[in-house]
Parts: sequence; structure tokens; C-alpha cells
Amino acid sequence: MPRIELKTPEQIKWMREAGLIVAEIHKALREAAKPGVTLLELDEVSAEVIARNDAQPNFLRYGGFPATVCISVNDTVVHGIPDMTKLKEGDLVSFDCGAYIERGGQEWHGDAAFTMIVGGDGAGTAEARRLNAVTEDAMWAALASVATGHRISAIGEAVEETVEKNRDGSWTAGIIEEYTGHGIGTAMHQLPEILNYRARGISSRIKKGMVLAVEPMLTDGDIETFVLEDDWTVKTVDGSLASHWEHTVARTENGIWVLTAPDGGEAGLAPYGITPQP
Ligand code: MG
Ligand code: MG
Repeated sequence: MPRIELKTPEQIKWMREAGLIVAEIHKALREAAKPGVTLLELDEVSAEVIARNDAQPNFLRYGGFPATVCISVNDTVVHGIPDMTKLKEGDLVSFDCGAYIERGGQEWHGDAAFTMIVGGDGAGTAEARRLNAVTEDAMWAALASVATGHRISAIGEAVEETVEKNRDGSWTAGIIEEYTGHGIGTAMHQLPEILNYRARGISSRIKKGMVLAVEPMLTDGDIETFVLEDDWTVKTVDGSLASHWEHTVARTENGIWVLTAPDGGEAGLAPYGITPQP
């Protein structure tokens, strides 16, 4: 069986450097994502932060992807290509991006995503706000499970538990199954594959030195998706909204460290009684 790459403490520090650059891209995107701004202009914002930090984009040219950031609006789940589309107040938009730096003769990657409603906290529908809050919660529960769980399967269990806990009358969020989280390190996508739902079978043990990209994708309706003719853009078949949150997290000597969160995950993990352990 192929081996999961385990990182040394020094390598995790290099990945933290990459992670903080990704966090800086997120901050710039969040500030720039206003009504009337085009998705291409937001790609330039991302590219500029990467260049300013002497880092490299890991999304650009990945499998031929033409931009530094995937921007997925409303019923687009993931892999949206920046184009001349202008954001509108109330759009539910996800930004998924990454960067790598070169240290010790190798590439060290960061990868993270967030979803926001254009126009501020009060904008958008109640349904969009609910979906986005549940998805972000599912991500933090999943990240916490990397500290408390014994196997990779704890991550999918945490996502499912969060979705069930947030059941609202007849409504529950749908968990996308066709796209998964992944190991990350000297390449953006590594083993193990991380399912966002409960599955039969025994998954890998979580070990010190593992670094994982944990990324639940939830919909406001059904979970069926299709890909547009551009071979990238993934949309929900029923047109329901989708949200996507992701962080890169390391299992360290004494706990976990969320490498793409500026505070290392302190605020997001606090409700789970977990303090980041760099
Ligand atoms: Mg990503
Ligand atoms: Mg990822």
C-alpha cells in the first residue's frame, strides 16, 4: 500500500509558512469580494498576494486549470473558473486556493477554502446563511476530530454528526460524496483520501506528522452534481446552493495545528475544548 507522507517538525514549520500565505490570500479575497467585482479581478487579487510573498500558485495550471483560485458561486460546488461574471449582493461564493514555497529542495503546499455571502453578514437568504454556518461548523468539528480521533474515518463521522445535529425540521444539508479531502505536503494532493461521510471499512490511523486538507462540501438540497463542458465547473443538478470550507491541519507532537488559519485554529477549535499545539 502506498505510504502516507509523514512530516518532520521542521517540514511542518515550512508548511505553516505556506499556510499563512494562503490565509493572507483569503483575507484579501474576503475584502475584495464586493458587488460588481468580476471573478477575474479576484483572481488577480490572489495572484498578487502569492507573488508578493515569493510563493508559487499550486492551482494555476494544475491539470490545466487557468487561474490561481477556484471561485464557485451559488449552485457551483467547487472548481469554478474565474471569468467576467460580476458578484451580486447575496451571492454565496466559495474561494478555494493555495500556494507553495520551496524549502529544503522540495515544494511545501498549503490549501484552504472559505465561503461567504457577498454584501456582509445581513445579506443573502436565511437558507444561504444556515447552509454556510453548518458547513463551517462541520469543518471545525472535522478538524477537531484530527486531534481526538484515532483513524481518518473520524473526519467523515464528525462531518455527518454536525449535519445531523443541525437538522432543522425536514431540512438537512446534503454531503457531497464525489469530492474529498486529502493528504498534503510536497504535493497538493496526496494520500490519504478523506471522505466527508461515514463509510464501512478500516481507514488509516492518524499519526504524528500527517498533514491533511479537511474540506467538507455541503448543499442545501440533493447531492447529485454534474460538470460543465469546461471540464471543471461542478454544479448541483437540482440547482441548490453549495458551501465549501477547508483548512490544512497538521497532527503535531502534542496535538494539532491548523496551518492555514492565522491563529492556528485557536478560535475555531475552542468550542471543542482543543488548543492548537504547534
Ligand atoms: Mg482546496
Ligand atoms: Mg483541497
